[in-house]
Formats: sequence, structure tokens, C-alpha cells
Amino acid sequence: MNFFKRFMHGRYGMDQLSFTLLIIALIILIISRLLLPILGYFALAIVVYAYYRFFSKDIKKRQGENMKFLSVTKPMQMKIKNKRLLIFGTKTHKYYKCPKCKQMLRVPKNKGLIQITCSRCKKEFIKKT
Ligand SMILES: [Zn+2]
Repeated sequence: MNFFKRFMHGRYGMDQLSFTLLIIALIILIISRLLLPILGYFALAIVVYAYYRFFSKDIKKRQGENMKFLSVTKPMQMKIKNKRLLIFGTKTHKYYKCPKCKQMLRVPKNKGLIQITCSRCKKEFIKKT
């Protein structure tokens, strides 16, 4: 364990981009096993690149790549997060989209039928919470 700590000193380690790359590689690997064996090399190349980033000592550059990755995928992440909120809500709140302007609206859970007024366009609609 001490050896590993010393070895990793000054190295970049794991981030969201490397983690995503490994997940993608895993999916490609599964597809390659089922359909197209040649894709296995592609998956391997992605894994090698993820490990290269993991052990890299150029931390500034790796952080820059990760920041770029996060900013590019942010709209998609927000969409997924909003979808999850609309379906499941949280422990205390439910989420609805305004039927007129599509604004996300948060209302308390377990209040029965309530009239919701959109904070943006003032459209009123009734939902069960
Ligand atoms: Zn609205």
C-alpha cells in the first residue's frame, strides 16, 4: 500500500472523464463480444488512454481536459437530472413542467390536489401531489 501511495504521488488519478471512458470501453467490449470482435481493440485503446490519464504527471493538462469534458456534457447531465426529478421527485417535493412555458416547478409532496401557478408565466394548472 505504501508503494502504491509513493507511486501515485504527483500523478493525476481518476476523474469524471477517465471514469466515463472506462464505462464506454466496457460497453464497447460487451458489444464486441456479442457482435464485432474487432471492436475489442478499440475498447482496449480507450482503456489504455484512460490509464495514461490516470498515471499522468501533467496534472494541469488533465484537469483542463476534464473541465472541457464537463462543460461539453453539462447540458446532457442537466437534462438527465431534470428527467429524474420529473419522474421521481425528491423525498419532500414533486416536480412539474409548466404546460405553457416548460419551466420546472417544485411543489411540496402529499398535499393532495393543488393549484400550481407558474412562477415565470403565471399560468395556473391543477396537479395531484
Ligand atoms: Zn409557465
